[in-house]
Amino acid sequence: MTQDSDTLASGVGEYADTGAAPKTSNTSDDPWEGARNLIDGWQGGINIAHEALDRHVAQGHGDQIAIRWLGKDGSKQDLSYSDLSELASRFAHVLTAHGLSKGDSVFALMGRVPELYATALGTLKAGLIFTPLFSAFGPEPIRTRMEIGDAKVLVTTASIYKRKIAKWRSEIPTLQLVLIVGEGAPDDCVALGPSMAAANPTFETVKTAPEDPALIHFTSGTTGKPKGAVHVHNAVIYHAFSGSYALRLTPGTIYWCTADPGWVTGTTYGIISPLVNRVTMIVDEAEFDLDRWYSIIEKERVEVWYSAPTAIRMMMRAGNEAAANYDFSSLDFLASVGEPLNPEAVIWSQEVFGQPFHDNWWQTETGGIMIANRPGAEVRPGSMGKPLPGIEAAIVSETEDGFAELGDGEIGELALRPGWPSMMRAYLNEAARYQKCFKDGWYLSGDLAMRDTEGYFWFVGRADDLIKTSGHLIGPFEVESVLIEHEAVAEAGVIGVPDETAGERVKAYVTLNPGFDPDDALEQSIRGHARKKLGPAVAPRQIVFRNTLPKTRSGKIMRRLLKARELGLPEGDISTLETDET
Ligand code: ATP
Ligand code: MG
Repeated sequence: MTQDSDTLASGVGEYADTGAAPKTSNTSDDPWEGARNLIDGWQGGINIAHEALDRHVAQGHGDQIAIRWLGKDGSKQDLSYSDLSELASRFAHVLTAHGLSKGDSVFALMGRVPELYATALGTLKAGLIFTPLFSAFGPEPIRTRMEIGDAKVLVTTASIYKRKIAKWRSEIPTLQLVLIVGEGAPDDCVALGPSMAAANPTFETVKTAPEDPALIHFTSGTTGKPKGAVHVHNAVIYHAFSGSYALRLTPGTIYWCTADPGWVTGTTYGIISPLVNRVTMIVDEAEFDLDRWYSIIEKERVEVWYSAPTAIRMMMRAGNEAAANYDFSSLDFLASVGEPLNPEAVIWSQEVFGQPFHDNWWQTETGGIMIANRPGAEVRPGSMGKPLPGIEAAIVSETEDGFAELGDGEIGELALRPGWPSMMRAYLNEAARYQKCFKDGWYLSGDLAMRDTEGYFWFVGRADDLIKTSGHLIGPFEVESVLIEHEAVAEAGVIGVPDETAGERVKAYVTLNPGFDPDDALEQSIRGHARKKLGPAVAPRQIVFRNTLPKTRSGKIMRRLLKARELGLPEGDISTLETDET
């Protein structure tokens, strides 16, 4: 049963607009039916690249722009679905010509250039496993990830290769082929450009099975050593569904996901889900720059924008005046993921963009959005929203009889009933760590949260970050959100430090908005504000001013690092650390 791509729009996108319950047929209560029907139609196989590209081309949409690429230097390049499909096919031929086959692992290490997208989709087309790494990683994080992922192929640039790989390449026994994007391929590598140009532009997509591995994604390393989460081709059902339902992606939508594909958001919702939903996606090669971002929204008429709290707080910090000269009237739906989104940011975005950012929650492990403030539904600032159709989420706690569900209003661990298509299938080489995530029929997320009486979920903190002071349990997010309400505070990271009488006391690290000086008077003013809002037991006793907070490259505040330093403990794995200025 071959279905038209519009089935997805009508079967799934429809209720994204109305906010109504998912449509199901009389014979099935499958919440992802629209997406599943669509992709089951392909001659028995299931392959992400087929769903993202081939299907659209076969259905006559080859001329639609798939990617509008914006180069750092101001250049622009449009790739249609046919163009991208052709590039992916050529790339797939390059792989097979070198004797690589199904199940082999292809690592990508480059900026957001068109070749990255061809690599991702060509790898999937050929039935190999795609593993993106963030291009700014140093040699050691690259090496350890390639080792545990049994890398057979690396696609990178000559400059990255020479600086970060060449020295130890020979020590990775699995690595057979290094493909170089751009000029200057060293002798022991292969230049990708000429190989692609010589390759056949059509490639019959490999008919992978639903459980064949497709992607390996490393977690952000916020809480410790990053884990390699393995995802399968069947995940595309959930990628199709969740993009349509929670991000309002429909054919032709102008969509911009600001995440780098080195992190799961940048692949699931920066490559797969948007293409499967046949949007036109904006890809910006450059890093965050306020004026550049605002003008991209204005010039490209971005309709759906998916970003992260760290960027949103940077925009807030720049103030409303910086936004005043831009036209944001194209924006139709805004969403955020990666960290808790402070209520202040939701209110601010409504004011400046005419739309609130819709917070949603998920993890590398879940492969797709699990909980969301979705289109058409009431947004509760500070809340992550409600579980998507087909997703059973609960707040659980360990009892003598195992993990049990808590009632509304109680704080516990956020848990999910396993079984949705994009759930990870393993942590690479870490079976025991993987097994530990599953208890009594639940997948345990490691995050603490609370559900209110109307079913909205509220993030409290990472389980490791919970603060216990004088019998109170405090989540850092609540305190941080109050701190950034203060006019001087741009960002805050809150930890618990040992205290003889209280057990732990709350300590805050903050960065300031432009124009504020870090002096005693300001510290007192911020502490006073927090005390008024939170009460003396919960408000931070001490505030430390910093230029930046330690953050992962995916933009998450590393509270464990603040704490380790406070306690004089080893820093642990800091392979993903980006900013860190005292
Ligand atoms: P690691 O698992 O290596 O410590 P990480 O958990 O930060 O790193 P990711 O999978 O990239 O790696 O991030 C998922 C985590 O990000 C969630 O478990 C949660 O703690 C946080 N997160 C994501 N979205 C939200 C959100 N909307 N609100 C609060 N926290 C969020
Ligand atoms: Mg995690």
